[in-house]
Amino acid sequence: MKVLVIGGGAREHALCRSLSQDPAVTELHCAPGNAGIAQVATVHPVDQLDGAQVAALAGRLGAALVVVGPEAPLVAGVADAVRAAGIPVFGPSAAAAELEGSKAFAKDVMAAAGVPTARSYVCTTAAEAAEALDAFGAPYVVKDDGLAAGKGVVVTSDRAAALAHAAGCERVVIEEYLDGPEVSLFAITDGTTVVPLQPAQDFKRALDGDEGPNTGGMGAYSPLPWAPAGLVEEVLETVLQPTVDELRRRGTEFSGLLYAGLALTSRGTRVIEFNARFGDPETQVVLARLRTPLAGVLLASATGSLDQLEPLRWDEGAAVTVVVASEGYPDAPRTGDPIEGLAEAEADGTAFVLHAGTKADEDGRVLSAGGRVLSVTATGTDLAEARERAYAAVDRISLKGGQHRTDIALKAATA
Ligand code: AMP
Repeated sequence: MKVLVIGGGAREHALCRSLSQDPAVTELHCAPGNAGIAQVATVHPVDQLDGAQVAALAGRLGAALVVVGPEAPLVAGVADAVRAAGIPVFGPSAAAAELEGSKAFAKDVMAAAGVPTARSYVCTTAAEAAEALDAFGAPYVVKDDGLAAGKGVVVTSDRAAALAHAAGCERVVIEEYLDGPEVSLFAITDGTTVVPLQPAQDFKRALDGDEGPNTGGMGAYSPLPWAPAGLVEEVLETVLQPTVDELRRRGTEFSGLLYAGLALTSRGTRVIEFNARFGDPETQVVLARLRTPLAGVLLASATGSLDQLEPLRWDEGAAVTVVVASEGYPDAPRTGDPIEGLAEAEADGTAFVLHAGTKADEDGRVLSAGGRVLSVTATGTDLAEARERAYAAVDRISLKGGQHRTDIALKAATA
């Protein structure tokens, strides 16, 4: 099977790594890719938001499967263009990706499907926003309605700051604050059958102790030893299946990866948000534990045959990923610095380095090219061992001004 992956971050590197280890995959391509992906796939300089370009490339390559990684191409209709060309694609249509592209749409689907989520108001004026803030009280949760790369949400007890964020957005969703730990649960679906993956937890704040600004994610781990037994089954029954069924009922069938961001509150499990694609950096740890070859799973979603898939097999151990970000991330990331120690980080075979924002220069040196630069990932028999291995690998890497959190999976590993 020839496979083309769209995207160029650590999530796509994780997808490409798993696909490259699948014996069914005879050729692996990625567009646009990055310096790390280029080591396991042939990379192509294509505008990932241009459906016609992506479909043409897939046709030229004779791809049997196209996997769309990031949200922006999905919302731009890249999966529709590939599907229209008669090529199986893993990823929802633009209409179904609105589940992530519009928080207001997601709320409407959840209400119709009876999915538990925070109570909310959609506001377009300052007066409406003020009224909604006062209806819920502090802490305030204000969400930009559109895509914002995980940075459109402000959670604050400062009413003025909440109002200021609302004023900066065209349309906002203001909702009640959800207490309790967060869980990311991914599911593969073909629009009818839903196959949940193993839960993971990510770390959104830039600094240790969940301090500092929100980021795209600074690390993740799986499994969650503290999570209640039966969580995955409960979420499948109360969240994932009803959502997929409701979208099918509306004629906007959702196939691909349905990501539920959940809060385990004192009043029960609530959906914080849906995403329409693999989450980054949780994908890095979830795929590190998946034993079933990946291509067949994604193809079954793309071709509507998930009901025939054997149950997924998982590594019983743990995985931890630590994001190395550039100086100034997330506000003003500095790029263009050489990264040293990549081979050394992988030398003992206990960890691997997934590239996020990197590029190779003319001399083949790897340079930082984005805010999040690397996802250093390790597996182990338990979280403590996976953590130790991931941080040992991080310590062997040098990037001028590079920053990472030192407490990824710490609480879960020592609990
Ligand atoms: P989102 O982009 O919707 O995932 O939001 C980003 C982060 O903001 C989440 O991971 C939560 O940490 C936080 N957040 C979002 N909605 C709520 C809420 N209703 N209550 C508390 N925290 C929230």
